[in-house]
Amino acid sequence: MALGKIIVMLGAPGSGKGTQAKQLQDKFSIPQISTGDILRALAKEDAPLSKQIRETQAAGKLVSDDILLEVVNQRTKKEDCKNGFILDGYPRTIVQAGQLEGLVTEQNRELKVINIEILDDLLLKRLTGRRSCSFCAEIYNVYFKPSKSDNLCDKCGRNLIHRSDDNAESIEKRLQEYHKNTAPLIKYYNDKNCLSTVDGAKPAEEVFDLICNIFQ
Ligand SMILES: [Zn+2]
Repeated sequence: MALGKIIVMLGAPGSGKGTQAKQLQDKFSIPQISTGDILRALAKEDAPLSKQIRETQAAGKLVSDDILLEVVNQRTKKEDCKNGFILDGYPRTIVQAGQLEGLVTEQNRELKVINIEILDDLLLKRLTGRRSCSFCAEIYNVYFKPSKSDNLCDKCGRNLIHRSDDNAESIEKRLQEYHKNTAPLIKYYNDKNCLSTVDGAKPAEEVFDLICNIFQ
């Protein structure tokens, strides 16, 4: 069981990390906490940190590590986190990981890091091959789940669309960025013996079973 645990999810864009986090949230009844969502919400409010966050964002800068830590600290002291929580998009750097370590100790929790590993080649196919129906939103993939007739939806016959940010060049850039930022974190958590790596190339249900096994 994930009782009292802090679960950090690592996974490249397209690794299915979001889907897995959502399922974990449902299975263990613990919240998934996205620092990006909290910052967006706080920026609109009149909370103590709101002004600072708005100013940072207006200047096009990243919110400082200390503010991020404070945001995570405040959010995870709420009642719904008492049995644990899942962190999404945090920590992103070694400095943040070190700060989170302090919070883990302070809240007397156990940290578990799940790394969904998948080859870039497969991710590229998953992402660049994506097509979605312009009408019913059904998702296809030219490599893994092609529609029966070229560019038309099997369900409703409408045209399929290819999102412009799903092109190989922008995806490769995002993947490079991801590896650059995450490689040190993987090493950091591996050295601390709290990293579990699962094979993200497997179907989503199997990946979820693998993740659940880690918590048994
Ligand atoms: Zn359709």
